[in-house]
Order: sequence, then structure tokens, then C-alpha cells
Amino acid sequence: MSHIFPRHTKSDLPTAARGEGVYLYDTDRKQYFDGSGGAAVSCLGHGDADVTAAIKSQLETLAFAHTSFFTSASAEALADKLIANAPEGLDRVYLVSGGSEAMEAALKLARQYCIEIGQPERHRIIARRQSYHGNTLGALATGGNMWRREPFAPMMIETTHIAPCYAYRGQATGETAFDYGQRVANELEQEILRLGPETVMAFVAEPVVGATAGAVPPVDGYFKRIREICDQYGVLLILDEVMCGMGRTGTFFACEQDGVAPDITAIAKGLGAGYQPIGAMLCSAEIYRAIEDGSGFFQHGHTYIGHPVAAAAALAVITKLTDGGLAKRAQVMGAKLQSALEDAFGQHPHIGDIRGRGLFRGLEIVEDRETKRPFAADRSIHKVLKRETFAAGLICYPMGGTIDGRNGDHILLAPPFILTDAHIDEVVSKLKQSFDKVF
Ligand code: PMP
Repeated sequence: MSHIFPRHTKSDLPTAARGEGVYLYDTDRKQYFDGSGGAAVSCLGHGDADVTAAIKSQLETLAFAHTSFFTSASAEALADKLIANAPEGLDRVYLVSGGSEAMEAALKLARQYCIEIGQPERHRIIARRQSYHGNTLGALATGGNMWRREPFAPMMIETTHIAPCYAYRGQATGETAFDYGQRVANELEQEILRLGPETVMAFVAEPVVGATAGAVPPVDGYFKRIREICDQYGVLLILDEVMCGMGRTGTFFACEQDGVAPDITAIAKGLGAGYQPIGAMLCSAEIYRAIEDGSGFFQHGHTYIGHPVAAAAALAVITKLTDGGLAKRAQVMGAKLQSALEDAFGQHPHIGDIRGRGLFRGLEIVEDRETKRPFAADRSIHKVLKRETFAAGLICYPMGGTIDGRNGDHILLAPPFILTDAHIDEVVSKLKQSFDKVF
């Protein structure tokens, strides 16, 4: 019996023993291709010598110094490097221990900013129905995933949700992708007007939707229109790049490809690449200045903010992503992965859509390709696929609830950026083998 909580069904999980490159091995020496880094974490793969050396060196000099007394060289260097590579206008970094913490910091900073600028009535958050922003209460309330929210509903802060930008299901016949994007973006304006513009604090979205829908990219022009609407009504734009950031989509920040910069952004996962638990919230100079000139400090904090060892690991990771060219490699290899998936599954009767950006790819599973009808939710096709792919030695991220939190299934692929052409063949052939068994 395992005493670790949570463990799925008692002791049915293998014990991970070792990681090397794109592979994980269990204690029975079974090899698994890490096709999703769990959920888009392991961008460098496993056993990276440079990151390990950076962690070791930091541990040998300084493991911890509380941030109310000290800063540290590794945290400062990480913040400098993040800002040097951040979208225009982002100027300050708040280092935390993961994605949910980064989102909580983002929401609290947005709220404090509204108070500091003399607009305390701005407290409402608008997000999208197809979204996941974390599991702490504020982040959970922001996300649109109903089955995760419902059990905790009386504890949720006030949030409303608009339609996502989900062209596969949302774009009408005869409508261009651009027009569709403008139409769904305009839902934000309608919602701001419905709530009362002076009460809205922020709009929150993932540039490329991850866990809830399987790498759904926005159409051209969508985020530009969103930015315009936010500016018009004084609403902050918070982009959650916890999953899609850090080179995953082929650019260091996913929003670079949409030509917009947020007021606040959250990153995690690929930032530590699995070597250390770390996340960060970045904000604009304007927001920071309002706090500095107002009450003087951000009313927030956790014991492990700015952890020196986590920062040293992240600095080594992002140096490889930026200076080492690995984020660009994600773009090149991502295009190859997409065409290999299209070749193999483009005509598959149960694959409705193959989508994504960079090494962030999703396959939407449907019962009927023509009508896009999903499998009945109680068939839990994603769970069956997870079991089969895992048995075939492939870790991918199949999830249900793609369409509305309950119906629809998808598979998310987010392999390490070091993967080769041969690895792409391996992923596709293992997927094929698993699909053949399930369907
Ligand atoms: N935001 C997004 C977009 C995520 O995908 C996740 C994690 N799946 C989170 C926030 C929460 O991050 P964490 O699990 O590190 O708290």
C-alpha cells in the first residue's frame, strides 16, 4: 500500500526509476517515450547535465535565504533574463513555485493595481469557458472547467466566462477564420458592457489552450481585437502561459505570434523543465510603478518565493531555450510533428482535428468525423487511450471534457524539444498502434 496521496487506484502505478533524454524508465526497466512531459513540463528532456550542474553549484553555495532579508544572484539573473526575452512592456518578475501560484499572484496584483489607481470597484474577472488556470481557489474560480469548479462552487470568487476561440467547432460555414476570431473576441466587449465596464478588473486567457482542449491556437487577429477591447475599457489583459510559454509553441512567449503583449503574464512548467518547482508572474512597468508609488509593496508572499536553487535551475533552462536555440528548434520540429500526424491520422475516422503550434499539438477524438459528434462522455475514450498508449510505452496527455468540460476527448502531445526525426516516427507509430487497438 502506498501512503502517498493522491495515488490513483492504490498501487496500480509503476514506480518511475530513471529519466534519460526523451525517455523515462520504471523499476521493471520498461521504457516510456515522454511524449507530453506529464503536462508540458519536460522541455529539455531528462538528465540534462547543464541544469543538473547549475543546481548542484547553487546548492553548494546557497540553498535558501528568505526574501524578506535577501535577494540572491540566481533570482536576479533569472529575472533579468526573463525580462530581456519578454514581450514589450513587461518589466518586473515575481518568482513563485508553480503555475497556480503564478496565477494567484497575477490576480492579486491586478486587484491591488485597481485599488492603487483609485478604481476599487474594478474586481470582476472575465475568462473563457475553455480554460484551466490552476487548482488554488482564485485560479480555479478563474478557469472555465465546470467539473473542476462545481464541487467548490460556494467558495468561488466572482468570474464570468465567454466563448473560447475554438475554430474547429465555432467557425460557421462561410465565415472566414478572421471574421470568426473578431466575432468571438467581441463577446468580451459585450460581457464588459453587461457587467459594467467600471467593475471589470481583468480578462484572463491562455494564448494556446492546453489541458482543457488540447493545444487550441487562436485564429489570426483574435488577440489583437482582445487587446483593443481591454485598452478601450481599462481592463487588464492577463495571459496564462503556464503551459504554452517557454518556447513550447516555437517562440519564447506564445503571445509573440499573436502580436500582442499582456499587462500581466504567468509562466511555470517549462521554466523549471521539471528540474525544480518554479513559476513566475511578470507585469508591466506601469503596474509596478502604481504599486511602488502607492502603498509601496505588493501584499503577497510565500515562504519559497525567489528560491535560489529553483532560480538557478530555471536560468540554466531558459539559457538553453533562448541562447541555445531550443525554442526555435521547437518550431522546426513542431512543423515536422504536425505533418507526420497529418500523414498518419489526417483521414482517420475518429480524429476530427490535428492542431497546435510548435511542439504543442492536439488531436481531437470524435465518434463521427463528418458531424464532429464526440464519443459519449461515459465511454471515457480518453482514459482508454491513456491506458493503451501507456502500455505501448508512450506518455501522452489524453483528457476528456474538451468541448464543455464534460463532452469531447483529445490527446495532447508536448514532447521535449531535443526530439529527433526518428523520435517523431516513434511517437506516431506508438499512437497508431494504440488507436488500432482502441478503435
Ligand atoms: N495554468 C495553466 C494554463 C495550466 O496548464 C496549469 C497546469 N496544468 C496551471 C495554470 C497550474 O499550474 P500548476 O499545476 O503548476 O499549479
